[in-house]
Amino acid sequence: MIFISHGKRNTELITQLASRGVIKSQRVKDAMLNVDRGDFTNSSSPYSDEPQLIGCQATISAPHMHATALEALKPQLKEGAKVLDVGSGSGYLTVGSSGKVIGIELMHDLVQNSIKNIRKNNADLLDSNQILIVEGDGRLGYSAEAPYDAIHVGAASPTFPSELVSQLKVGGRLVVPIGTENQEFFQIDKISETETKRTKLFEFDMFL
Ligand code: SAH
Repeated sequence: MIFISHGKRNTELITQLASRGVIKSQRVKDAMLNVDRGDFTNSSSPYSDEPQLIGCQATISAPHMHATALEALKPQLKEGAKVLDVGSGSGYLTVGSSGKVIGIELMHDLVQNSIKNIRKNNADLLDSNQILIVEGDGRLGYSAEAPYDAIHVGAASPTFPSELVSQLKVGGRLVVPIGTENQEFFQIDKISETETKRTKLFEFDMFL
């Protein structure tokens, strides 16, 4: 990523991501315009296309990563879809779906903060149980609400995430960074109960 988008407001950031072609569809653009990234980080530059610290040595992912994940998962993010966000961190990606979203996060403080962040944005989503944030090891998924139409993994997986794939519906899709030092961002489609299709979306570079 050579060009970094900076905005003074959420609208500017999203407009720049769209004009760079990172946001490809009106649906993803509208979803990202509707969620103010400034509600999810205390950083002084929330509208810059970079990850920012959110505590517990974690970061809110860069906006171009959120946009790429949403574009990849878009076909599965239909009305009423059930979605799992593994490593939900700030809570940013849990907001905006028309179905039910479960965010699972390992760090207690981030779970608490993300609930506050989501409330700033849209308290109804929590009150109506459309969003559920749980504390736990997301590598094991969250079987109580499985199967899922879409799974977004924000916490890199060292190997192929078999347990998460088992919690996908047939026809469902998962996006995940795989690897330890050199990570690659994969889309995994569940074709049947026994078949998956892996597509490498890109390799991470130093700017991600
Ligand atoms: N997508 C989020 C956070 C990305 S950073 C956002 O944009 O705000 C990755 C997150 O994964 C961190 O919050 C980290 O605490 C969490 N994490 C790491 N390992 C995890 C695990 N095994 N289970 C659940 N969450 C985990």
